[in-house]
Amino acid sequence: MHMGVTKSYLSENRHYRLFTCHSAELVLQHLLRHSWLHRVVTHAPFTLFPSSVPKAALLQALALQTHFNTLVDKISQDAEFLEEALAGTIQADDFTAKLFGIYKQVQREGQRQSIVVGLSRADYMLDQSEDGTSSLKQIEINTFAVAGFCVSDCLPVVHRAVIMFVVEDLQISKLGRRQLEKELWNRNIPFICRRFEEVSRGASLDGDKKLFIDGLEVAVVYYRYGYMPEHYTEQTWDARLLMERSLAVKCPDIGTQLAGTKKVQQVLARPGVLEKFFPDQPQVVEQIRATFAGLYTLDMGQEGDQAVAMALANPDKFVLKPQREGGGNNYFGQDIVRVLQEVQSDKRRAAYILMDRIRPRTEQNIQLRKGLPLNLTSVCYEIGAYGAYVRHGRHMIINEVAGNLLKTKSIEHNDAGIVSGVSAFDSPLFI
Ligand code: ADP
Ligand code: MG
Repeated sequence: MHMGVTKSYLSENRHYRLFTCHSAELVLQHLLRHSWLHRVVTHAPFTLFPSSVPKAALLQALALQTHFNTLVDKISQDAEFLEEALAGTIQADDFTAKLFGIYKQVQREGQRQSIVVGLSRADYMLDQSEDGTSSLKQIEINTFAVAGFCVSDCLPVVHRAVIMFVVEDLQISKLGRRQLEKELWNRNIPFICRRFEEVSRGASLDGDKKLFIDGLEVAVVYYRYGYMPEHYTEQTWDARLLMERSLAVKCPDIGTQLAGTKKVQQVLARPGVLEKFFPDQPQVVEQIRATFAGLYTLDMGQEGDQAVAMALANPDKFVLKPQREGGGNNYFGQDIVRVLQEVQSDKRRAAYILMDRIRPRTEQNIQLRKGLPLNLTSVCYEIGAYGAYVRHGRHMIINEVAGNLLKTKSIEHNDAGIVSGVSAFDSPLFI
């Protein structure tokens, strides 16, 4: 379909779309040579043409999202489940262990705040089977610093106190942050942005565990940063603990972050586990399970040994995943063999999970990416379904689907993410 377009059409179309992209604020800021004098604004990468997406698949993903909100939220409160699911991972992975340490401490002290705000996104690919049919399979659920979000009307309206965005850098706007800030402006909701170091230096709790920074009370902590070990130092881990112990509403709180780990995703795929969280809703269990690809434990033991053998025998059929977010961390093909050969006989292997590799349909499209020529390439897409919820104590006050995302990558990249810059924004053309 795309092959017949002429060069001049492409060029015009490109300019028109770039213009639209800027007016929709789909822009990224970069520092050149680390200097503010060399700040440039570029458009986010996006595809020139929409991708054909079966409408039924997108609707299926959207229909599941409120159930995933419920699931993530239930897991976040289930200390026993998290402890058991993550036991092996904690021994092998220091980052998960640190997060879990904070979770345990907050549990011990008793949570000071009973309101929880969750913003999530479940990602899927359409797996093609040999008989030509395709099925929606989940890649992962994101619960932390979900990119591309704009659901601020779900954030609770607070008086006097402020919403604090915890960010990497005050000036550089990562995708979606500006849109959120704009929504808050429009609603007259005060917000501030602070880096972890600034929280570490300037934040404190009063006797009521209210969180203060620079003389302002923080009502909501909204994390845009802090999903990777590199985002923390010894001091900023203390700042994270301080925020988690505080009365401020956390988006997400530490339990919700742990509920979004890949290890939890794998444990959920075990028989009987979804049933535990939806005891009276067999249909919901069935619908969720239908989107699970094969997921295998690498914890020490016979089951883990079998998974290792299976992956070594057929590495192209699997993806090896550590407990990391943000793209570019997974292993494919011969890299799986290399990593597993190194860690297979000791507990380090429990830091990973193994997943069936999904084979999405490929199509031709052109990606508009700063500085790159227009080329037709083979691409595949990932569907994202956004969710937003607010719980007060035991009651879900809001539980909504909050739109969708289509991100497309060239098939030469195995691993992709919007934040890592490999994926381009796309939109669905329903078939
Ligand atoms: P991250 O938390 O880093 O985003 P993901 O689990 O989403 O980790 O994986 C990153 C990317 O790797 C995905 O966007 C997708 O392109 C690719 N990927 C992940 N799991 C699979 C899979 N099972 N089959 C095929 N590709 C996958
Ligand atoms: Mg991802």
